[in-house]
Amino acid sequence: MIIVMKESESKQSALNVVEHVKELGLEPVLLEGTERNVIAVIGDERIMDEHVLNAMPGVEKVMPVLAPFKLASKNIRGQSTVQITDDIEVGGKRLAIMAGNCAVETIETSMATAQAVQAAGGNIQRGGAYKPRTSPYSFQGLGTEGLEILTEVKKQTGMPIITEILDPRHVESVAEHADIMQVGTRNMQNYELLRELGNIKKPVLLKRGMSATIEEFLMSAEYVLSSGNPNVILCERGIRTYETATRNTLDISAIPVLKEMTHLPVIVDPSHAAGKRDYVPALAKAAIAAGADGLLMDVHPEPPKSMVDPDQALTFDQFTELMEDIKKIAEAVGRTV
Ligand code: PEP
Ligand code: MN
Repeated sequence: MIIVMKESESKQSALNVVEHVKELGLEPVLLEGTERNVIAVIGDERIMDEHVLNAMPGVEKVMPVLAPFKLASKNIRGQSTVQITDDIEVGGKRLAIMAGNCAVETIETSMATAQAVQAAGGNIQRGGAYKPRTSPYSFQGLGTEGLEILTEVKKQTGMPIITEILDPRHVESVAEHADIMQVGTRNMQNYELLRELGNIKKPVLLKRGMSATIEEFLMSAEYVLSSGNPNVILCERGIRTYETATRNTLDISAIPVLKEMTHLPVIVDPSHAAGKRDYVPALAKAAIAAGADGLLMDVHPEPPKSMVDPDQALTFDQFTELMEDIKKIAEAVGRTV
């Protein structure tokens, strides 16, 4: 059940409702908005008397949420924005362009990439320090050393960091460096990890499981939200189908579907969807045209030498050219870069 407070009503009225819900033995989640506050109630809400709630000062309406993903549901609020730094948010008018090496390799590679990405209009640096590899014999990432490289690049360029978290035991150490904690496709249903990320307030970018339905995807987001972290960004990165011409099949329809079902920002990773660099620009442009709030992409100074996923990293020139096209598409759909 959702309790919507009147516009501009004081926070105290919302806190009174929160107290009332607690007294009933249910769990209230207060979602503070810029215009109005909303309280989501978790638990068996049949014991709540709607008339009593409706009569409480400041309450505008009480609504049932039929979707199983209560806190992610669009019923709760309009589009959310997730604040990354003072001047970068995801879900607002300006697109979030996250790009960089698939795995952090050396300070030189990360620095050169971040500078090229920034010069072309990207605003968030990407790099994996812990890599989830299909083979245990493949390069697993530099770990802490990789996080330190990203932090050094952030110091010099000012670009915030998105990096993957694989293990619930690493949440604290990764959060010390990361501005956005990325949960990869293989961990979308790692519920213990999701709960741990719910206990911190750092933005979480949750990638869609490669075989997950949209509802399963939103239920995973619900784990983070219901554990207390409202800062969730969704990422469509291609799903596994019978097609082998591309690494995965980008589910472009997930963008309008998610936009209808949830208030959470939606970004797209065309690199892991395509698996081949020459297909990435077309998918990136389609994603923005379809309403995505941003992109996550692999870029490398010398893609064939990339230690992970060399086939899908864009060259600096390809990235720069793509950004020029993205600027035009962004304008056509009322966004900026
Ligand atoms: C990645 O972004 O580096 C990655 C491993 O992606 P995914 O989880 O989508 O496979
Ligand atoms: Mn990769």
